[in-house]
Amino acid sequence: MPLRLHESLSRTQRELKPAQPDGVFRFYNCGPTVYAPAHIGNFRTFVVNDVIRRLLELEFPGKVKHVRNLTDVDDKTIRRAQDEKRPLVDVTKQWTDKFHADCDALNCLRPHVEPTATGHIKEQVDMIDVLMKKGNAYRAGDGSVYFKVSSFDDYGRLSRVKERELQASSALKAAAADADEKEDATDFALWKAHKADDGDNAWDSPWGRGRPGWHIECSAMSKKHLGETIDLHTGGVDLLFPHHENEIAQSQCCNGKLFAHHWYHSEHLLVDGKKMSKSLGNLYTLDDLKAKGFSPMALRYALLAGHPRKQLNFTLDSLHAAESALHTLRAYRASLPAATTGAHDTFGHVLTALHDDLNTPGAFGALFTVVNRKGGEADQTSFDRALFALGLDLRAADLPKADVPAAITALADKRWAAKQAKDWAGADALRKELAAAGWSMLDGKDGYKLEPLKK
Ligand code: AMP
Ligand code: ZN
Repeated sequence: MPLRLHESLSRTQRELKPAQPDGVFRFYNCGPTVYAPAHIGNFRTFVVNDVIRRLLELEFPGKVKHVRNLTDVDDKTIRRAQDEKRPLVDVTKQWTDKFHADCDALNCLRPHVEPTATGHIKEQVDMIDVLMKKGNAYRAGDGSVYFKVSSFDDYGRLSRVKERELQASSALKAAAADADEKEDATDFALWKAHKADDGDNAWDSPWGRGRPGWHIECSAMSKKHLGETIDLHTGGVDLLFPHHENEIAQSQCCNGKLFAHHWYHSEHLLVDGKKMSKSLGNLYTLDDLKAKGFSPMALRYALLAGHPRKQLNFTLDSLHAAESALHTLRAYRASLPAATTGAHDTFGHVLTALHDDLNTPGAFGALFTVVNRKGGEADQTSFDRALFALGLDLRAADLPKADVPAAITALADKRWAAKQAKDWAGADALRKELAAAGWSMLDGKDGYKLEPLKK
């Protein structure tokens, strides 16, 4: 079954395939703003996108190019740097490193290119220059440059925002608040003239010193690293308008070409039924959950448990359920014989569900149908392929103890498998080996736990 995903412009499911003759699949995913730790809502979007990346890797091996940007200059990053009296680059480096560590813990594959807005000022200025020359942009009195929305007939097609709604949209009102210089309230900033609040965070341009507006960075970085037309562009549903609508307007007016063949948006995560916010006290980071004793892999599992195109309500109970499901999967894997024929795709239905518009609940259903069947023809190759697609690293499943060395986990897995095979002598020998290395293994019904031996 081909890989099909909902497409936001056409509102239909469409097959994903590379459009260009080189067969490379060009994938752009809007990345984080690096001024604070990403929250678990952000990670829902990034984990969903990681499953897309994995499915693409399986479908077009060695022919996927995945770009995800880092927004390292905007109001929030600058404000944080000013508040902390630190250079902007220090702040954004700190939160970029943290983002990488969290993504690794959640077993997200790194993008092939991770460009930054500050690293692509020239590319952004070049695009704005073309838009000025083509009459799609104008310079206001203060030196800011705006995109003229009325110059692009297709504006509003992605989000289906009609002109009147456009005028009323609160997002636009907010954007309008800092710009009385605009000819029309719907126009948006491509270049922001330097203000005292911005400190040293300004660059030279043909229109004076300033910094790029947010939207232009994705158009410029996508063009630089993937070319003028890409195969897939994704992000959370809040990016549909105005961010992606603006990206389409800028890119298509500048390049005179279709920007993206396929747009995909995943829905938001709610916590305890509400939008996450600091003031409600329901905003979690990965570290908050680790401090409660949950593993990053359980969070990944819980974030994938709901259909990505439906809002997902996160609860701590869902993490308990995820830990227990991972336990079952881990024990199941340990019970599979090491060598299998790979002749039969026992877990093929997992991939089939994922290929059907990323039906992750269907994929978990298919996985557990086989796991709960027990016995029969087990196929480790097929199981591992399904786990790869979902990005579930079972060795990491029981680990808020991220400090258990991989060699110890490997020994423990081996001992668990020996026990399942009723090889008591082998299991005993491995327990001794673990003890000699300073670890004790506590056996449960469905799996085990590792604890360091007290000295
Ligand atoms: P930001 O760092 O704010 O640019 O957001 C990074 C990504 O997280 C974007 O794709 C957003 O759409 C997404 N996002 C923000 N809030 C949530 C949420 N509550 N649930 C799911 N995705 C979110
Ligand atoms: Zn973007």
